[in-house]
Amino acid sequence: MNCPICEKPTTWKDNPYRPFCSEKCQDRDLGNWLTENYAVPELEETNIESGVWESGVSESENS
Ligand SMILES: [Zn+2]
Repeated sequence: MNCPICEKPTTWKDNPYRPFCSEKCQDRDLGNWLTENYAVPELEETNIESGVWESGVSESENS
C-alpha cells in the first residue's frame, strides 16, 4: 500500500507509523486531523453557550 500523505510505497508489517511511511507523515496527518477537529467544537461551543444563557434568563424570569 502507499502512504496516504506522500503516496510513497510503504510496508504494513513491522511499521510503527502505518499506514504512513514515516513519523513525519504520521505527524502531518495528525496535525491535519487536529486542526479539523478544533474548528468544529469551537463553533458548536459558542452556539451551546448562547443557548444556555438565553434559557437560563427566561427561566428565572418566569418564576
Ligand atoms: Zn509518507
